[in-house]
Amino acid sequence: MNSTLDGKVALVTGASSGIGEATALALSKEGARVAVGARRGDRLRSLAGKAAGEVLTIDLDVTDQESARASVAAAVERFGGLDILVNNAGVMLSGPIAGADTAEWRRMVETNLLGSMYMVHAALPHLLDSQGTILQVSSTSGRAASANSGVYAATKFGIAAFSESLRQEVTAQGVRVVVLGPGFVDTELASHITDPAMQATAQKMAESMRTLRPEDVAQAVMYAVSQPEHVAVNEILIRPTDQI
Ligand code: NDP
Repeated sequence: MNSTLDGKVALVTGASSGIGEATALALSKEGARVAVGARRGDRLRSLAGKAAGEVLTIDLDVTDQESARASVAAAVERFGGLDILVNNAGVMLSGPIAGADTAEWRRMVETNLLGSMYMVHAALPHLLDSQGTILQVSSTSGRAASANSGVYAATKFGIAAFSESLRQEVTAQGVRVVVLGPGFVDTELASHITDPAMQATAQKMAESMRTLRPEDVAQAVMYAVSQPEHVAVNEILIRPTDQI
């Protein structure tokens, strides 16, 4: 039986946990050959062991442009091209602006925004060749900022601006750009927050609702990347029903 993505090649950044891992497994289940990148190689290798099809694991730090370039080159060399980039790697170090540790701001900007741009820059020539799809993982924080998420929201608003500009640049050449904005998803994302009060708030929020599971978000990705070539899903917003 043919699967939807038979013969397609996908590269997923930030695939060592959460949304990226679930997406890589879903892509593999639908027949794609999948390259997965992140810094924790052990987690990627364990993902590869669970996947339905062929998976290439790549040491990737998206903040390093050379590493971003090398990840795309490795995927293309192994699988002969690239059809789908899932630009997902990200960090969320929430906290107030006043008195913040600006090293955390730099980490968010370099990972979520610049890192994601490096990935697009490296992958675009191949996606123009294949008339492929770029799926940009943003957030509800990319549509509405709130207190204590200033820099994180700035990176996600930045992704939206960059993606719309990119869409207008490449859509006539058949490349589709999708912005995906999830609400609260049960992953490791909030575990990296260093501010104890923010950590407690995130924990409380998680306990107050039926959060999305990474697999729920992966299904939204699958919808967007499985459309016929004339259909461009430009934006998806997906929240837990309980999230206001
Ligand atoms: P996780 O913390 O589970 O996953 C984040 C992934 O990003 C990990 O695989 C991590 O891998 C990777 N990563 C972080 N820094 C780098 C780096 N420098 N280079 C390469 N990979 C990196 O969280 P989520 O799955 O929740 O997050 C995935 C995306 O979804 C993020 O962009 C996040 O902003 C977004 N999102 C999440 C929401 C949520 O509620 N969870 C809501 C809305 C958006 P490693 O550490 O191994 O490098």
